Amino acid sequence: MRIDIVTIFPEAFTPLQVSLLGRAQEGGRLQITVWDLREFTTDRHRQVDDAPYGGGAGMVLKPEPFFEAVDTIRAESSKTSPRIILTSPQGVRLTHALAQEFAGEEHLIILCGHYEGIDERVREQLATDEISIGDYVLTGGELPAMVIADAVARFVPGVVGDTASVEVDSFSEGLLDYPHYTRPAEYRGWSVPSVLLSGDHEAIRRWRQAQRLRRTLARRPDLLKAEALSDEDRRLLDELDLEDEVSGRE
Ligand code: SAM
Repeated sequence: MRIDIVTIFPEAFTPLQVSLLGRAQEGGRLQITVWDLREFTTDRHRQVDDAPYGGGAGMVLKPEPFFEAVDTIRAESSKTSPRIILTSPQGVRLTHALAQEFAGEEHLIILCGHYEGIDERVREQLATDEISIGDYVLTGGELPAMVIADAVARFVPGVVGDTASVEVDSFSEGLLDYPHYTRPAEYRGWSVPSVLLSGDHEAIRRWRQAQRLRRTLARRPDLLKAEALSDEDRRLLDELDLEDEVSGRE
């Protein structure tokens, strides 16, 4: 998968070079390119922003460099029809499902705003998607672009070595993840649940699934869709005395 990011602060993107994403790029499973918006200006001062028409506070990023940048990226990419994501607090909220959908694309271009934002014509005429990472306002689109790239890249085959872990991580199958423990088995008098030390793989699997169900009901009942529960899930909820809670919501 190819991800291109257009920004006025390319130096902010070192986090994408480390750990799993860094390795995926070295291995060729993922190609992330960060473009400096100023490279697409034509004036002597490489000006990327200007005062807003109609007056008011702050500066607005000019449209031309974004259109030029996207034209250049498209021309050098062999991939067809990229999704062009405008980062914006006014956009559709990024979710697990949306990240998975983006991961199904061959090519994404992410545009980072700054200051008061980007000239509206970029949203109207260039972007295919407007994405927010939450209901708060950040100073720029660099962190949102990294959040989007990271959340999407995890679903690209081979980026996370153990695909099984992506499949049971929080939000998969509408459930939160189960709790994790590692050595030592006892620390300051706090013990690891004994089932995890039992070596009984089936008992461990059932305990973990019960924990996923219990946590989701307690913390994010909005995620739990009764119709998506398996017969085993219902039996586990019954054992936890939680079946009525789910049935009551049907
Ligand atoms: N004036 C804009 C508004 O109130 O909707 C906010 C502009 S914000 C200070 C500057 C840039 O940061 C935006 O253009 C966008 O790229 C990015 N940004 C800020 N908060 C964001 C969020 N929650 N999700 C995605 N991008 C965000």
